[in-house]
Amino acid sequence: MRADVRQVADGTYLVHGSNTNWVILTDGDALTLIDTGYPGDRQLVLDSLAAVGGSPEAVTAVLITHAHNDHLGSAEHLRATYGTPVYLHEAEVPHARREFLQQVSVGAVLKNAWRPGVLPWLAHVLRSGGTEQHPVTAPEAFPVAEGPLDLPGRPVPVHAPGHTSGHAVYHLPDAGIVISGDALVSDHPTSRLRGPQLLPDMFHHERARAVASLDVIEGLAGDLLLPGHGPLHQGSVKAAAQQARERAV
Ligand SMILES: [Zn+2]
Ligand SMILES: [Zn+2]
Repeated sequence: MRADVRQVADGTYLVHGSNTNWVILTDGDALTLIDTGYPGDRQLVLDSLAAVGGSPEAVTAVLITHAHNDHLGSAEHLRATYGTPVYLHEAEVPHARREFLQQVSVGAVLKNAWRPGVLPWLAHVLRSGGTEQHPVTAPEAFPVAEGPLDLPGRPVPVHAPGHTSGHAVYHLPDAGIVISGDALVSDHPTSRLRGPQLLPDMFHHERARAVASLDVIEGLAGDLLLPGHGPLHQGSVKAAAQQARERAV
């Protein structure tokens, strides 16, 4: 399998991994990598960096939306091998260390096995190392309390909790782009809906909080949504968040 890398704006690339997306922001030769796919996606991550003319050594920092195994997959590998800092919201730092786990269990997924798409998706999770734990040994909270990070692409982290307690989305205000992780997706193998939506209920640590965080996303100016799962969504981010909320009630 090859990484599906598409440029969506100047210096902004959306990568579709085996089942999860990640984003690469470039500024000259330097890169910011936002999320890292499943543990089994490592070669795809490296291929995607090469596809934009980069390399793991050129990654200034890894930003993580949230510490689920399908987003955290290669973060510790990059940190341990290249010394790349791994940044998350402060509430997500202990999750990345695996001091606790806010991820749906295989047992809970199996209770939903009757739903269309769940068993094939679970088979993919198991194949891709989705139940392996790869804690980050030294994750770091964002170095600034608010505003843009001094990293390629100058992403602005915004706390959007619920899916996990420390879930962050990343806003690129000048480009009008929101990188929404699992706080707002556009598709998932276990969903029958297409377009902006919350993930199915079983995936959220606190679903009511995830619904409330749609208000936060709604307030971010933009017309391009790069979600953690599903295709990019073109159109008002505000309207996308509203649509997901309507579907969630
Ligand atoms: Zn997740
Ligand atoms: Zn995910």
